[in-house]
Amino acid sequence: MYQNFPILIAEDNPVSGKMLEKILVREGHKVILAENGRIAMEKFNNKFYPIIVTDWMMPEMNGLELCKAIRAGDRQSYVYIILVTANNDKQKVVAGLEAGADDYITKPYNPAELIARLNTGIRFLRLEESLKKANEEIRKLSIKDSLTGSYNRAFISQHLPQELKRAIRYNRPMSLIFCDIDHFKRINDTFGHSAGDQVLKEFVRILSDSIRMNLDWIGRYGGEEFLIILPETDIHGAYFLAERLRKKVEAMVIGIMEQTISITASFGVTELNHETAYEAGADEELINVADQYMYKAKNEGRNMVKGPGL
Ligand code: GH3
Ligand code: MG
Ligand code: MG
Ligand code: MG
Repeated sequence: MYQNFPILIAEDNPVSGKMLEKILVREGHKVILAENGRIAMEKFNNKFYPIIVTDWMMPEMNGLELCKAIRAGDRQSYVYIILVTANNDKQKVVAGLEAGADDYITKPYNPAELIARLNTGIRFLRLEESLKKANEEIRKLSIKDSLTGSYNRAFISQHLPQELKRAIRYNRPMSLIFCDIDHFKRINDTFGHSAGDQVLKEFVRILSDSIRMNLDWIGRYGGEEFLIILPETDIHGAYFLAERLRKKVEAMVIGIMEQTISITASFGVTELNHETAYEAGADEELINVADQYMYKAKNEGRNMVKGPGL
């Protein structure tokens, strides 16, 4: 359990260094040895180490300076530092802790004590890891729609203007598809609300499978209305994709409790107009235009893609 965190040792005395290495390797740790603080810092700059065990007295850069140098950097993850001091000089211990060491141990030390102190550090790092994971989960929950996993309305209003800005700055095309499931109310009325939920999930899944990963994104605009944002895509590309999606949705058969459900959807496509893209509310205008084309598709019989010139 207490493994997987590589440990950087800074120790100028080869005998002490080897002994330390032996103790830690025996515990199952991966260990890297540096002969002084400067070399340790070099190694650390090349590769991140979450745990550092450092001697105090070393040539070139001592343990105190190493602590300070590590703490001076801006790090994404915590570095747990244990300082090894030659004597129990309290002033030195205080100076070490003030320089950023988390704990200390005095030479000659008992290997069991070193391991116990190290394990405290590892518990600390594990806690940090689990907090980070929890934060990431919360972040995801706050930007995603919990039913379909597509981005939520808050994310759309925050992120769409950024997409516009990027397209303007680099003078790149950008398009948007507005899609709405046809007669979705009937699905709920015929098969029940939870079947309706299932259909929404499957609808988003099939859309997601057909767009470019890490570039295009889907947002839930309303109940059964979704936006697909297509950076680096002109109106022809958007129309082509929407038509492919329309066919895929039409061909999809959703099995729910021994019943099969088929749906269709209506699509409106539009491309960012670079001449008006600077204006306030350009993002909402883009959505409105696509929405109007979607309504045109509804009026002309549904299960259709509509856009400028179509
Ligand atoms: P149209 O072809 O004109 O779009 O008809 P429609 O029935 O799809 O449109 P309408 O706007 O009349 O109905 C949308 C329905 O979507 C009504 C609402 O109950 C349902 N709905 C919205 N959100 C959800 C949801 O999260 N789950 C389920 N099951 N139904 C939802
Ligand atoms: Mg030394
Ligand atoms: Mg609908
Ligand atoms: Mg609707």
